[in-house]
Amino acid sequence: MNNTLRSRLLISFGLLILVMLCLFSIGTLAVLLRNPLIYESAAQQLRTAQQTAHDQTLLQELPADPSTHTIEQTAAQLNTRVVLASATGEILADSQAQADAALHVQPALIKILAQRNEIGFLRDESRQVWLVLVQTADENTFAILAVRRPRLAAVQLFKNDYFRPVVTTGIIGLGLATVLSLVLVKWINAPLQRIGKAADAVAAGEFETIPSEGPAEVRHLADSFNSMVQHVQDAQQAQRDLTANVSHELKTPLTSIQGFSYAIMEGDAQTPDEIHQAAQVIYNESRHLNRLAQDLVTLAKFEAGVADLHLEEVDISVLIREVAEKFRPLAIKAGLQFNLDIPDLPRLTGDKDRLNEVFSNLVDNAIRYNAKAGAVAINASVRDNDIEIRIADNGAGIPASEREHIFQRYYRADRSHPGMGLGLAITNQIVAAHGGSIQIEDNLPHGSIFVVKLPIGKGKQ
Ligand code: ADP
Repeated sequence: MNNTLRSRLLISFGLLILVMLCLFSIGTLAVLLRNPLIYESAAQQLRTAQQTAHDQTLLQELPADPSTHTIEQTAAQLNTRVVLASATGEILADSQAQADAALHVQPALIKILAQRNEIGFLRDESRQVWLVLVQTADENTFAILAVRRPRLAAVQLFKNDYFRPVVTTGIIGLGLATVLSLVLVKWINAPLQRIGKAADAVAAGEFETIPSEGPAEVRHLADSFNSMVQHVQDAQQAQRDLTANVSHELKTPLTSIQGFSYAIMEGDAQTPDEIHQAAQVIYNESRHLNRLAQDLVTLAKFEAGVADLHLEEVDISVLIREVAEKFRPLAIKAGLQFNLDIPDLPRLTGDKDRLNEVFSNLVDNAIRYNAKAGAVAINASVRDNDIEIRIADNGAGIPASEREHIFQRYYRADRSHPGMGLGLAITNQIVAAHGGSIQIEDNLPHGSIFVVKLPIGKGKQ
């Protein structure tokens, strides 16, 4: 119970209510203490005394005879404490000298109160507060009429009229806080528990996404969880694809290599021609395997962020023309039209070999995934600060739903063709490392266009 959200919320609400009620009580008490109504009777007493003193000129006579007897008599007549003080604050006579502690007379305050004829407050040495009205007796002497501040009244008022409602409010508040914290906990806890269960399910190998519910923070957590699940699923799928692709892609060349080397070993291939043919197959297949291994290493390096780019000035128009010419015979052999429109383009900074790989992959795919009697069209232009290269084919095209996967490693949309699903993943990494981007557009009525954008005069390591 101690560490649960519910207990924490309850404690927080409880403390908040307590603090609020304390502040409210202190505020109320302060207002009551300062409330002039409470002092009204005391003030009235002082004003009456002032009037009586004025009518009978009682105070003006005091400086001439400040004896205890006279001052006690005057005090009795006025029904207040009477203190005679000099302009410097020295007490000359005090009607209550015996009974009460001496007043702290501050000369400056006394003067102001006398001038304004206002009721003020003074403390005595036992910290009791007195309401005072100061009168000028003669030019050097002040007569202070004082009445005790009726303190108890405020505290009593608070005790009688405020304490009960405050406690009742506190109890009601606490009840409401309990209900509120239960509702809040349910709101936050339910989706959190769902996430917990889903996480356990993922650990057990069952992938499920969870609805995005509850407060924004919890919804954010649910979204992150769902995207994590998606990533894990993708990674597992990639793993499965890799196993399937590798076993398929390795099996054929390895079987050939095994078969032809066995033929040479056992003397089945006897004539120099037959031996040469067998060696040629072994050479081609091992080259193919080598290429696969290299692709796997290249991709792993890019994904780990440790692939080096050997940057230099690249004449991209020359580079694309060279790649195109390399593939032209293959396209012609496949019965495809091969259209090339590459103007002279600004140079850019890049890795020549890697860029060669990018366009080789794309042109190779445009030929391999093309339709019978289709066409491959390669053109380039300058757009804003980019060089835009477009490689179009008339193949089956790539549906929008496939486009987000097509650049993932080991992904193959069309399994009728051989391939490891590495080419586009590597292509994408190389283009990104050059600060560029690659997109797929429809080539209507059918086919796709791979659009590569490379920034001019920029390449990043
Ligand atoms: P692969 O070596 O298997 O061709 P890629 O990464 O080059 O690997 O391509 C991944 C998948 O994308 C291919 O299996 C294919 O289904 C699809 N693909 C690539 N290029 C094209 C294209 N021009 N037209 C249609 N599909 C394509």
